[in-house]
Amino acid sequence: MKIAIMGAMREEIDPILAAVGTYTSSQHAGNVFYECVYGGHELVIAYSKIGKVFSAITASVMLERFGAQMLLFSGVAGGISKELKIGDLIMASSLCQHDVDITAFGHPFGFIPEGTLMIESDPQLRSLASEVAIDMKIDLYEGIIATGDQFVASSERKEWIHQTFDADALEMEGSSVACVCQNFAIPFFILRAISDTADGGASDDFDAFLKTSAQVSATFILEMVKRLEN
Ligand code: SAH
Repeated sequence: MKIAIMGAMREEIDPILAAVGTYTSSQHAGNVFYECVYGGHELVIAYSKIGKVFSAITASVMLERFGAQMLLFSGVAGGISKELKIGDLIMASSLCQHDVDITAFGHPFGFIPEGTLMIESDPQLRSLASEVAIDMKIDLYEGIIATGDQFVASSERKEWIHQTFDADALEMEGSSVACVCQNFAIPFFILRAISDTADGGASDDFDAFLKTSAQVSATFILEMVKRLEN
């Protein structure tokens, strides 16, 4: 099977490229795409750059031009749930866009007409991840991830996102990638390791924990790849 693995930042895919060893690279639509064979699968790997727009471009290219049949996202996020500590892993059950606001027309926050407020990730990939977590003796959380074009470093904004969407973590790409995959009818899985808790200290924590948390997420994703059937 051809599998897309994407991150938003170079630090999120570096551990994946290091683990797969040999790969080729090519450029398209302002980005670099790495291809290799790993665990019996063809992989296409890329980081999109930060935010919903860049991540939607990269996801679309991976599906349309590279023919990926599944997409796995690996990266870091700000934790909302008090259960989530820095370095913990969360897989998205569903994702939403916390910065969409056309409430002036009576729509709820996050809703775009003809779209859905929440997009559910692939249940089979989530159950595979649960098996991997048990075998690796890792606590894997499952919950709603809220996406927006904002680095959230405020307790007030974080609390609002929690109250409005019942979200457990927040980041800047998951929901746009989910939207692309939903529209192309491609199964997808979004995994994030917590780098910060989206409050006053978020930027310092992010800088301190980006690399270690990105590595935690990447290691888990590669274990999933090895267990996926062709
Ligand atoms: N330090 C970077 C910017 C990082 S933006 C620079 O200067 O270039 C944060 C990235 O990590 C995004 O890709 C987002 O998906 C994720 N993320 C981690 N913590 C976050 C938070 N508190 N709010 C929003 N996104 C967060």
